[in-house]
Amino acid sequence: MKDVRCIDCGKTPGEIGEYIDAGRENGMSPESYVEQEEGTYNPENGHFICTEDFIRKELALGRRPVGSDGGTWTAP
Ligand SMILES: [Zn+2]
Repeated sequence: MKDVRCIDCGKTPGEIGEYIDAGRENGMSPESYVEQEEGTYNPENGHFICTEDFIRKELALGRRPVGSDGGTWTAP
């Protein structure tokens, strides 16, 4: 069973306001929204990083994080 969770703050989509709202707006659960729409979502293990933590990460790096292939960064 996948553990859909932000690997930085440890919260599940159902505990993060932005995904609760986005899920409601799109008629899906917060988990489904993350699985289908969240760019950092890793389908292998369910990990992602919420927008707040992604911005923090971006500021720490000084640039937008990118994946090993130069594309979208996904949570390890
Ligand atoms: Zn987070």
